[in-house]
Amino acid sequence: MKVLPSLMIATVLAVQSLSVHAQNDPKRSVTEVADGVYRLQNNFHYSMVVLTGEGAVVVDPINADAAGWIKSEISKLTDKPVTHLIYSHSHADHASGGAVLAEQATVIAQSNAPDHIDSVKPTLRFDDTHVFSAGDKTFELTWLGPGHGEDLIAVVVRPANVAFITDAAAPKRLPWRNMGGANIDDWINQVRKIESLDFEIFAPAHGSLGVKADATDVRVYLEDLKASVLNGLKNGKSIKELQAEVTMEDYQDWGQYENWLPLNVQGMASFLIKTGQAK
Ligand SMILES: [Zn+2]
Repeated sequence: MKVLPSLMIATVLAVQSLSVHAQNDPKRSVTEVADGVYRLQNNFHYSMVVLTGEGAVVVDPINADAAGWIKSEISKLTDKPVTHLIYSHSHADHASGGAVLAEQATVIAQSNAPDHIDSVKPTLRFDDTHVFSAGDKTFELTWLGPGHGEDLIAVVVRPANVAFITDAAAPKRLPWRNMGGANIDDWINQVRKIESLDFEIFAPAHGSLGVKADATDVRVYLEDLKASVLNGLKNGKSIKELQAEVTMEDYQDWGQYENWLPLNVQGMASFLIKTGQAK
């Protein structure tokens, strides 16, 4: 079929105006996932806001623009201040722009986080676990070990039993692209650590809400992917061949399956070659 040039131009213009619209007007939503526990969406990222009666506890500012919006949404829910700002980890796409939320807050990060996170200096650091109460809620913070970053933590809120989990796993969603050159064995151990925590609702920083069993599914996905890629490499297959052959069919309905599976395969293969496991 011949496509008329004018139609092609119209399509290009439509796509351009859509992307300009998206830049100016991020997709945002506020969802209460349990009593006083909210997920705030800014495009593909989520932060968590918890009302305690004493004020609000925020996990992840996302970026400066989002943080300003988060602050204004909090002011609609309570006239009390942000008492705690928690960083899930220091990666810039989750951790930028915290200053506006940190003004009156205890700022908490894992010990391996940098001295300042986008100009905000954490005032409370911990190695393995940190538990605190604020008003009617208790927060259990757990370092997940190295893997996706060096300073990644899980935040479990009680009594709601909600776990806020960033980047290491998300319900029914493939891990990010080529997994950023991470040690994927360590990453699998991070997911095991998540599985060892006591919670019911899995509130991820990307994608849809889930339950604790979704963490196990992600770990099994990573183990299945590793086994398939390792088997292929040991049989002399190239990464390109593996990208065509490793289809992970059981996960076809997961988010980002089409876009990220070839990158997941590439990331896993590179990791297995680099660590000498593919011999
Ligand atoms: Zn990250």
